[in-house]
Amino acid sequence: MPVWRAGRCQRERAGVKGFEPRAGFVVQAYRFALDPNVGQEQGLRSHCGAARAAYNWAVSWVTAVWWQRRAEQSYGIADEKLTPWRPTSLPALRKAFNEVKHTDARFAAWWADNSKEAYSTGLANAAAAFDNYTKSKQGVRAGRPMGRPRRKSKRRARLSCRFTTGTIRVETDRRHVTLPRLGTIRTHENTRKLQRRIATGTARILSATVTHQRGRWLVSFQVEIIRDAPRPARQPDTVVGVDLGVKHLAVLADTTGKITYVPNPAHYDAALGRLRRLSRRVSRRRGPDRRTGRTPSRRWLKADAERNRVHHRVTNLRTDALHKLTTQIRAEYATVVVEDLNVAGMLSNRRLARKVADAGFGTIRRQIEYKGQWVGGVTVKADRWYPSSKTCSECGAVRDKLPLHVRVFACEQCPMVMDRDANAARNLAALAAAVKAGTGVAGDQDAKASKPRRADRQTRTTTRPRKRPGGRAGGATPRQRTETGDPRLTEAATPR
Ligand SMILES: [Zn+2]
Repeated sequence: MPVWRAGRCQRERAGVKGFEPRAGFVVQAYRFALDPNVGQEQGLRSHCGAARAAYNWAVSWVTAVWWQRRAEQSYGIADEKLTPWRPTSLPALRKAFNEVKHTDARFAAWWADNSKEAYSTGLANAAAAFDNYTKSKQGVRAGRPMGRPRRKSKRRARLSCRFTTGTIRVETDRRHVTLPRLGTIRTHENTRKLQRRIATGTARILSATVTHQRGRWLVSFQVEIIRDAPRPARQPDTVVGVDLGVKHLAVLADTTGKITYVPNPAHYDAALGRLRRLSRRVSRRRGPDRRTGRTPSRRWLKADAERNRVHHRVTNLRTDALHKLTTQIRAEYATVVVEDLNVAGMLSNRRLARKVADAGFGTIRRQIEYKGQWVGGVTVKADRWYPSSKTCSECGAVRDKLPLHVRVFACEQCPMVMDRDANAARNLAALAAAVKAGTGVAGDQDAKASKPRRADRQTRTTTRPRKRPGGRAGGATPRQRTETGDPRLTEAATPR
């Protein structure tokens, strides 16, 4: 995964092809919660639904030819005589959609109710999805294999719509924003942080995206902005190593010898008791059942909403704490060394997953990176296999093993004894000195852990199928069940 991804994504999201911020500007987002009235909420939902409809139209329009070609092939039609592929680029999709929307019964009656930006959102997302799929298939796209774009369900799709043209404005009263077709919507919070920059000409709005998240409507402005961020408080040559963990959320060790422990707030764990109680209540009431078409009772809806509120609050608290932590690290240090943790791998370990997800390691690393770009700081990513915990930060000796429960690092070669995480953070800080520019992945030049064998599966998932309570009815063995397609077992029994 490339380190400096943020810049590219931001340009893409700005909706401007090949957009580069002017010299001295950076691209940044400002997000505000909205308080739409009933009519406006309807408009917001309509726009997001229109975006989904356009997306689905594009997916069906393109994939229809795939099936058509397959059918023709089955009749033995020569390859060059098959129905030609349909284009998947945004301009082509837009052109085709604009021809169809007047006549197609799916759109003719109502497409004019929404801003054209709503349909553009859906078509742009579809074009991106096809692009991702093609690139993934060709092997030029990093990350997991991407599947063929599929239609979005009305029940599950995230409500979202982006505006790149038209009237997009933050009103001078700092309590309203204006969006195309939707008009002037009151904001839940004060918009002064953005409005005052627009007023002084140090910021320019590129696009606005409305989303519905955690029961709230939010607007996110993509802004080109001059950041007059103060220089990091410490000397530029002071490097800090950040060791992320579950016991302490982060341990910071800088090259001056200062060690800071950031406690893990564990918001989710703190709310677990309440969530258990509320979930129990939900499960005792009459919930929805799509199979039988049963609708939820009012009491179920009420209990469900109450449970969701707790989840939302946990997320909000976590987001807030992570932003404060990463901003503070960036305000203090110009050069930060973080580990390139295999977060996805840790999340597939069922003993660790809850705590890892609650801590938000991936988010911390991402925020440290992009906030560093804002202030012109350097982020060094330590190689995934760099043995930061197993190396002695005094003499550099590498230990063979250091199980997670051993919290104190005692060196075998020298008398050094130190807290495990502090030792790791000191090693990370020292790593920056070994890297010249600091844009690449560090650590792979130096000593590796003695046994990288299976190291990518240190947090391995259960390979054997779990014993299921109550025996195996019908005497089916796990292998047989796999063949009959029990998805749970397929997953567990597949050798990885
Ligand atoms: Zn030592």
